[in-house]
Amino acid sequence: MASQSSPVMDEETVTGSEPTEVESALETARRQLQHAADHLDIDPNIVERLKYPKKVHEVTVPIKRDDGNVEVFTGYRARHDSVRGPYKGGLRYHPDVTRDECVGLGMWMTWKCAVMNLPFGGAKGGVAVNPKELSDDEKERLTRRFAEEIRGVIGPTVDIPAPDMGTDPQTMAWLMDAYSMQEGETVPGVVTGKPPVVGGSEGRDEAPGRSVAIIAREAIEYYEKDVKESTVAIQGYGSVGSNAARLLDDWGANVVAVSDVNGGIYDANGLDTHTIPSHYEEPEAVMGYDAPETVTNTELLELDVDVLIPAAIGNVLTAENANDVMADIIVEGANGPITSAADQIFTERAIPVIPDILANAGGVTVSYFEWLQDINRRAWSLERVHNELEEEMLTAWEVVKDEYDSRKVTWRDAAYIVALSRIAEAHEARGLWP
Ligand code: NAD
Repeated sequence: MASQSSPVMDEETVTGSEPTEVESALETARRQLQHAADHLDIDPNIVERLKYPKKVHEVTVPIKRDDGNVEVFTGYRARHDSVRGPYKGGLRYHPDVTRDECVGLGMWMTWKCAVMNLPFGGAKGGVAVNPKELSDDEKERLTRRFAEEIRGVIGPTVDIPAPDMGTDPQTMAWLMDAYSMQEGETVPGVVTGKPPVVGGSEGRDEAPGRSVAIIAREAIEYYEKDVKESTVAIQGYGSVGSNAARLLDDWGANVVAVSDVNGGIYDANGLDTHTIPSHYEEPEAVMGYDAPETVTNTELLELDVDVLIPAAIGNVLTAENANDVMADIIVEGANGPITSAADQIFTERAIPVIPDILANAGGVTVSYFEWLQDINRRAWSLERVHNELEEEMLTAWEVVKDEYDSRKVTWRDAAYIVALSRIAEAHEARGLWP
């Protein structure tokens, strides 16, 4: 997902501290592909193919604004690879959506689904529009028209969108309804991240934060620390940050700092994460919470903690601040919170970084569960979702850990090696058509 589920903010830049060495999503995806390929004995022709999308659909989306004028937006659906199953990935509404961004983020989805061993390929799409400037009615008209324009290329066995930045469960409900109306039957499996009442899964919203907490817990244990004695700092208190914070807190970790876009709060004795309002309970209210100390977002990233979880936006850890990070372990909650230059510095400083494609993959994993429930016309309990997510995360963790231990690479490389091996093996087995 990329991401899957509630509004996400992965590609936004950091207010007030614009990093200089930021790559595009496509550059990052290609670099990481090549990097993983260098460790593996795979056919270079397969790697070459994976550098490009299978197809990019570009459409125009005209809508009637509330004032009666017609405005035309551009929408995309980029398909990267489907060797392991239908394309899967989010749809975002954001003014900066471009063809290349969709291609790059679609590639990330291919790696993320493969590292989790989900039977999906990668895709991403969106509309270049500022959703904050649309009324709810305009958003609904935009979604229904966009659904119609991409109807021929999505479908429950072909390409399954999900929410992403600027879109949410309601957007997915409209999309599912528009698609179903034209198909003449209710097709819940065409999108995931829907409200449970129309086939969405229990536990979908909290899943990325839950997976971040599970992976953080495993990493803490791997480095022979005790969760109950570990200190944690989390940047971003939205879907990912708040859910990860609360679970780690429930497991006994000492969550000493959390933040939102306005700054953070700090308590050396541990914050009561359940009473701090998350982004959805009360937007940007972290600073209003009665805590002993406040910190800036810059200071939060440099706290001397056992685990640092950047869970807000992309590119917050850069060459400029990587040397000031004091955490022992970094777990990527957000998509792409670390620039490649900072990543290099963390490798040199021997600070382990557990990558986003593993840590926050709970979102797409529960999307997979949702799809299974939809095509089987059966709803799982929240308990079952939690149990199966735990199992999938632990399985993925073990496989990545084995690569990490045996190859002596970074955790990021280990995750990409797992993903690319699976994709390359599937390509080898299927061969090139015709
Ligand atoms: P969200 O909108 O629910 O919350 C974002 C939080 O980050 C808010 O508390 C906001 O105040 C804070 N924030 C925004 N700008 C900030 C800044 N400059 N500095 C510090 N804090 C800032 O978003 P989310 O869904 O939790 O997503 C967070 C990250 O996780 C994104 O990178 C997203 O792509 C990634 N992600 C999300 C999901 C998902 O399903 N929600 C899945 C996988 C990855």
